[in-house]
Amino acid sequence: MKRVFIGVAWPYANGPIHIGQVGGCYLPPDIFKRYHQMQGNEVLMVSGSDQHGTPVAVAAEKEGISPEELANRYHEINMKAIEDLGIDFTLFTYTTHPTHKRVSQDLFKSLYDKDHIYKDTMETFYCSNCDKFLPDRYVLGTCPKCQAEEIKGDQCDECGLLLDPQDLVEPRCMFCNETPHLRESEHFFLRLSAFQEALEEYMEQKDFWKNHVLNFTKGWLEEGLKDRPISRDMDWGIPVPVEGYEEKKIYVWFEAVIGYLSTAIQWSENTGNDWEVFWKNTDCKHYYFLAKDNIPFHTIIWPAMIMGYDEELNVPYNVPANQFMRFEGKQFSTSRGLFVSLPDMLKDFDADAIRYYITAIMPELRDSNFSWDDFAEKNNSELVGNLGNYIHRVLSFAYSRFGKIPKAGNLDSRDKEALSIMEESVKKISRALEECRFKDGLRILLELSREGNRYFNDRAPWAEYKEDKERCGTTLNVAIRIVKAISIAGAPYLPNSMETLWKYICMEGSIHDAEWEQALVPPQEEQKLDEPTPLYSSVHLEDIFKEDSLMKEMKKLDLRAAKIKSVEDHPNADRLYVINVDLGDHSRTLVAGLKSYYRKEEMTGKKVVVVANLEPAKLRGIESQGMVLAAEDNEIVSLLIANAEPGTQIEGTVKDAKQISFKEFQEFEIQVVKAEGDKLVGKEEYEPVEEDLPPNIAAAFVEDSRAKVLKASDEPVQLDVELSAGSDIH
Ligand SMILES: [Zn+2]
Ligand SMILES: [Zn+2]
Repeated sequence: MKRVFIGVAWPYANGPIHIGQVGGCYLPPDIFKRYHQMQGNEVLMVSGSDQHGTPVAVAAEKEGISPEELANRYHEINMKAIEDLGIDFTLFTYTTHPTHKRVSQDLFKSLYDKDHIYKDTMETFYCSNCDKFLPDRYVLGTCPKCQAEEIKGDQCDECGLLLDPQDLVEPRCMFCNETPHLRESEHFFLRLSAFQEALEEYMEQKDFWKNHVLNFTKGWLEEGLKDRPISRDMDWGIPVPVEGYEEKKIYVWFEAVIGYLSTAIQWSENTGNDWEVFWKNTDCKHYYFLAKDNIPFHTIIWPAMIMGYDEELNVPYNVPANQFMRFEGKQFSTSRGLFVSLPDMLKDFDADAIRYYITAIMPELRDSNFSWDDFAEKNNSELVGNLGNYIHRVLSFAYSRFGKIPKAGNLDSRDKEALSIMEESVKKISRALEECRFKDGLRILLELSREGNRYFNDRAPWAEYKEDKERCGTTLNVAIRIVKAISIAGAPYLPNSMETLWKYICMEGSIHDAEWEQALVPPQEEQKLDEPTPLYSSVHLEDIFKEDSLMKEMKKLDLRAAKIKSVEDHPNADRLYVINVDLGDHSRTLVAGLKSYYRKEEMTGKKVVVVANLEPAKLRGIESQGMVLAAEDNEIVSLLIANAEPGTQIEGTVKDAKQISFKEFQEFEIQVVKAEGDKLVGKEEYEPVEEDLPPNIAAAFVEDSRAKVLKASDEPVQLDVELSAGSDIH
């Protein structure tokens, strides 16, 4: 028995995990963990939500809620999605946990006491308009490398460049758009330069690392390590544990990597198990899974922190970081709407279908590309057409003709050939998994089922059955042995379907408690078979998405019922109201040009429909966090009324759909249909237009008192709304 520690990069709790991250760092460690457990090894795999830092603070600021509320919401959403995908963490926690705070502060303090951390002054951006320091993402600007605009001050979403806010071209404050100025402030620095030699020595035995990880790390070392500021002037985060400096917070990246250690300790506190056997026994190897933009934090900074803190702790053994997965040829980007969230994808597809495709295109050595067409094609031709087809034809034939696992007679050379390919494949898959070549392992698994199909065709058991029933039984016995090998070798990849398959071939217990060696052990003969059903199903994109490319990029509307709590005049605009709406679990401020159509008191208390995923926009200095839907009939402008509790999701729209710009919103066709009672009596199609309309009103013409709003070109959004025209037009 060996022990293996697996650390997985911490996802920021500022939004749902996207599918690129799944291929980059969440699926690979799960496959690795499951494999090691089948080898009888003890694995501790940890990660959690990164709840601190400017990514969370900025997102919370935009929603007008506390960072804690936002972070807890996405922790729940992401943890559920991770579980639903079958990712089996030993512990998936969060960085606001008290154990993490304690361990982080202890490590910081210890490095400070040993002079590995020191105090110095540095210049950071300060906005005199907002009267505050602007660390990291509080500054926006243009990327100095790829010239992408509107990038955040810690990293370019477009080209992946890690940067400091000072590197941005034309930096500006994210709150007020003013140009910030540099101001001196005292900060704490990690004396990284002092670890140059120790890290060079550490890297001497790392030639087995992936090339891009090795080169990136050596590049940093060759440039010479520089000391790094590890404190920030902001409210949200873990306070610096030095007297008189508690107002400053520990830099989120410095603190997040400590989570690998603190989570092991938290796990030990929860379960009574000993964490030190994983962290101090030198034969326990530490693997870290992450995407390439996080390499230096794990191959330079974290090892240096460990070395400085406690010589007895294990440093990373391997960091098999992945490259980026792109989306339909472009960089995944939340802000640009190029985004497929894991929770969304799980609504439409089986976990194993997602796991299959993401593994098949895993960006292990170079960037890869997610595309919907490729997803459907690989699912239908490989998972269903090859692997699933082999398993099903063997089991359903054996079931219908024999009702049990037939006995094997004498094996001829064709039988032996098939079995030797099976043995060879299982060994190769094992080697690939051992070396974190997950894509290779999956490819070999598919070659094995292709060989199985070939064997089945060559044998033609349907003909054998008529001529020589015993010979047919031998064929099926061999074919089922291959099915069993596939189930074990496939279990780390496709945990749900392989568990089902395990039962189909009459095996006891869970496949995830089975040993890898079981792959080559023949199943027991004469066992009664149950009727199998196919393990996988075809994907028909047209059933799920609209044909147009817009829908393929998952541009979806998030419409919710909301109650108007208050209406105020806009301080800087004659035609605008500032409206506060209740969305059930939170409130939002909306700016709407309804002043010419409604009196304040006519609107207050009304239940309306809000576009909840519209990019926030500043209207005359006040940020509008969405849009209230109204309809127009010549000079009558009328709010769409929803008779539902605040927060109710309008059926057919997607909760927490990714943000869309106003321009993208206009690409949705909205139809309002005349209705008499519940019966639709006619419809007209309209596109929401900006011209001729007050700002932030989506318009559709109406003539009657009830309407249904329809989305895009076909499927109706089931929106039970009443049109109630404002009684007077002012
Ligand atoms: Zn400002
Ligand atoms: Zn860039």
